[in-house]
Amino acid sequence: MLKERRIGEIAFYAIDSRSLADALKKLGIYDDVAGGRTRCYFCGQPVAVENLGGLFKHEGQIRIVCNSIKCLYEAAWLTARRRMQQRQK
Ligand SMILES: [Zn+2]
Repeated sequence: MLKERRIGEIAFYAIDSRSLADALKKLGIYDDVAGGRTRCYFCGQPVAVENLGGLFKHEGQIRIVCNSIKCLYEAAWLTARRRMQQRQK
């Protein structure tokens, strides 16, 4: 499984639900996720704690990704691409 963990810049792919809940609380979005008010940034399906795949920061917003491999892959690609762009500046 994908296991990247960085809270600083927020690329967070973790399956460990306890540390995930901690991270969500730290970001202040735990209630939204627990209450089912969040959707996957890529496929748009509702994301709860059980199917949350990861988090990442994009355009100043925290985006949530479901646990489908396709969406996790897209999130990883998006954050990697942005990192490359930042390095070129
Ligand atoms: Zn998704």
